[in-house]
Amino acid sequence: MIRFDKVVKKFGDNVVLNELDFTVTPGEFVTLIGPSGSGKTTILRLLMTLEKVNGGTIQVNGEYLSHMERGGKLVPADERHLRKVRRHIGMVFQQFNLFPNMKVLQNVTEAPIRALGKSRAEAEERGRELLEMVGLSDKVDAHPSQLSGGQQQRVAIARALAMEPDVLLLDEVTSALDPELVAGVLSVLKEIATSTEITFLCVTHEMQFAKDVSDRVIMFDRGQVVEEAPPEKLFTSPDHERTKEFLHAVI
Ligand code: ATP
Repeated sequence: MIRFDKVVKKFGDNVVLNELDFTVTPGEFVTLIGPSGSGKTTILRLLMTLEKVNGGTIQVNGEYLSHMERGGKLVPADERHLRKVRRHIGMVFQQFNLFPNMKVLQNVTEAPIRALGKSRAEAEERGRELLEMVGLSDKVDAHPSQLSGGQQQRVAIARALAMEPDVLLLDEVTSALDPELVAGVLSVLKEIATSTEITFLCVTHEMQFAKDVSDRVIMFDRGQVVEEAPPEKLFTSPDHERTKEFLHAVI
């Protein structure tokens, strides 16, 4: 579960999020769409605690990100609290950021061994299962440089899943890929979204993917939600002029 309550985020005088409210319920796949510069990446960065809010609150699985409860009061979160909340959040970026000097399997097993305290045998067994799930069983012993961009992105997805996230954030995961590699990555994500309980918050310019996979799409502009609806409604008969204009420009 993700919940934004009156979230304000400013960079200097630039108010990027203006009392933003939205919720993603457990297991839901929500896609954020909106013009460039509207604050979509900022929302994901706040969730990764790479940025701090200037006002309002964010909750993940019922825990506040910026605050923690102490004696019935909300006080600013400390690093230990942030680590605890972050532990449940995974992210896949545009750039895959694999460890170039490690083989594919080790890329997937490193964090569960170090951060979750899994044994190597246990992490490798799960790592092989995940690599099979993303269609890369035959690349376990390859190095990232021997893979295509689409294959590297699928390793990055397996690596994120190896950390057993409750919430997975996807930030333009196909925008660094050659067009012919996009479909493979999106079909893997669709399979994961339909076969797991993970809550997804996705930022994408791939409108067909947003249509295919989302339970709900949020049209977002100037720091606020313009409208939100299931994709079959939002893409075919949006209520707001701003959404119509945006969709007309991108589809
Ligand atoms: P795009 O679709 O182009 O990726 P976006 O909707 O993800 O855009 P953000 O990257 O969240 O938009 O940026 C929103 C606004 O916040 C922009 O005006 C941007 O210039 C500003 N911004 C983002 N990060 C910073 C920063 N670290 N310092 C100053 N301004 C920033």
